[in-house]
Amino acid sequence: MATRVLYMEERRGQEPDPCYAREFDARILERGPDFVVLDQTLFYAEGGGQPDDTGTLRWNDGGARVIRVTKEKGVIKHHVDRMPTADAVHGVIDWDRRYKHMRMHTSQHLMSGLVFRTYGARTVGNQIHMDYSRVDFQPANFTPEDLKRIEDDCNRVIASSQAVRIFEEDRVVVQNKIDDRALLDLIPQSVRRLRIIEIGSADYCPCGGTHLKNVSEIGTVHILEKRSKGKETDRIVYQLLPE
Ligand SMILES: [Zn+2]
Repeated sequence: MATRVLYMEERRGQEPDPCYAREFDARILERGPDFVVLDQTLFYAEGGGQPDDTGTLRWNDGGARVIRVTKEKGVIKHHVDRMPTADAVHGVIDWDRRYKHMRMHTSQHLMSGLVFRTYGARTVGNQIHMDYSRVDFQPANFTPEDLKRIEDDCNRVIASSQAVRIFEEDRVVVQNKIDDRALLDLIPQSVRRLRIIEIGSADYCPCGGTHLKNVSEIGTVHILEKRSKGKETDRIVYQLLPE
């Protein structure tokens, strides 16, 4: 049985926004040597350049740390330091860590979208962290002026307080709207309805990650450096202020 992923559920104006929920109740479906599979979760499993969520699981007379969350063949495993002795658990994610990842991930959408629109360079890799992130672009050979422009463009959109829209769309519609087809090739053909993230005219792309409601929460994008990775690939390393 698949785990219901609570932060991905459509927004439809609910309060709190599912991406901002920190606690949930769940039942254990399966137990491994050091992990449990839950019927539903708010924990993000590592993947797509975003680290996993950590947190706790509590039950009537005990508690455990969730030290790692992985997704293997579609199964989300919550790796724990202690095996729960009950089947009903209450999960709490470490919010500071998750929120920093949401800010970073949303800023990466923005940067990838803007760089593609301005320079036609695709995002071919990315890894976010709590304190800095990197995005790899191709084909690219950015000058210091380009980096300044990218930083300014990101911060201009952030200052405009654009909402981050999340909605479902038919695969066929998405295919006709995006130029970067490689993005779609990553999603199995059997998936006909896609979850789309849209930030005004700056970004439109399918994604199953965790996002802010509004880009104003990103803060300020500060590009630290670019590194050439060869094959016309440039890596931009940046941080967000305040940290
Ligand atoms: Zn995303």
